[in-house]
Amino acid sequence: MLTSNVVGPLRPDITPLTKFFWDGCAERSLRILRCVDCKFYVHLPRPVCPKCLGEDLQPEQISGRGVLYSHTTTTRAFDPFYVDKVPYVLAVVELEEQQGLRVASQMVNYAEFALRVGLEVEVQWVDLDETLTLPYFRPSNPYLRDANDLAGVK
Ligand SMILES: [Zn+2]
Repeated sequence: MLTSNVVGPLRPDITPLTKFFWDGCAERSLRILRCVDCKFYVHLPRPVCPKCLGEDLQPEQISGRGVLYSHTTTTRAFDPFYVDKVPYVLAVVELEEQQGLRVASQMVNYAEFALRVGLEVEVQWVDLDETLTLPYFRPSNPYLRDANDLAGVK
C-alpha cells in the first residue's frame, strides 16, 4: 500500500467577504476592495468603508506594483510545509494605488543585497500546489533579482 508523506500548504479560510480575492489569485489577478462612493481602497476586506462608511465596496484589479514597506527573515518553520523552505522573507508591501494600502506577503526571486525598505517591487505569482496560487513579490528591477531563483516565475 502506498502512503504519502507530502505535506500541503495551509489553505485560506475563504468567506463570502474574501472569495473575490482568492478567485483573483486563481486567475493571477490581484484584486482589492474599493469603495464605490469615495474610491478608497480597503484591505483587509471588510463590509464597510473606513473612510466614508459606505457599504458599496467592489473588487478591483490593481497593478501589483508597490514598494517594500517592511520585511523580516523567517528561519524557523511554523508549519511542516515550510520545513524545506526556510529561510524565507516575509514582506509588507505598500501598493502604489494608495498611500497606506499594504499587503502581507513574501519576497521571492531577489538578490540578497537588494532587500531594503523602499525597494520597488511587483507581484510574482507562485503556485504552492495545483490549486493554490499566491501573490508574492520580487524586485521590479530585473538586475536586483536572483537569476538562480526562477522557480515559479510566470
Ligand atoms: Zn468610502
